[in-house]
Amino acid sequence: MILKIVKYPEPVLSQPGEPVTEFNAELRKLVADMFETTYANQGIGLAAPQVGVSKRVTVIDLSMGKDPKDRLALINPEIIFSQGKQYEEEGCLSFPEIREKVSRHAKVRIRAQDEHGKWFEKDGEEILSRCMQHEIDHLDGMLFIFRMSALKRDMSLRKIRKMQRAGTW
Ligand SMILES: [Zn+2]
Repeated sequence: MILKIVKYPEPVLSQPGEPVTEFNAELRKLVADMFETTYANQGIGLAAPQVGVSKRVTVIDLSMGKDPKDRLALINPEIIFSQGKQYEEEGCLSFPEIREKVSRHAKVRIRAQDEHGKWFEKDGEEILSRCMQHEIDHLDGMLFIFRMSALKRDMSLRKIRKMQRAGTW
């Protein structure tokens, strides 16, 4: 089922998500729906708050549905190691048409549970690293415009207000 993606400034996007404690059919349905929603929107990652669910659940798939090995469901994820810097363009499905450069760690190692509750660790570099940081930020109520420089953030917020006025946001 394709879920509705909420846009900034929907309050749920700014709230920290609740930890997941039950690894049941409901969680697995949410994960499956989130993958479907990501693919339907040509995205590479999605966090539960973006579909109005304030839980620490995120999905990532750099292959956009083409390679099952790339499917990554991260439940209760945390960054346990980070190294270096990268400064690349980012977008977000809750901010359509906004793309700006954001500073991130070059590499990260994350620890997370899978949809059955099993803990695992995974290393990310380049786009995967950036995507992991972006999605884990969502679970803390942190949005990528607040990782931009003040100048780029102001430009983005002005662009959003203009689209809101035009009724296209
Ligand atoms: Zn996002």
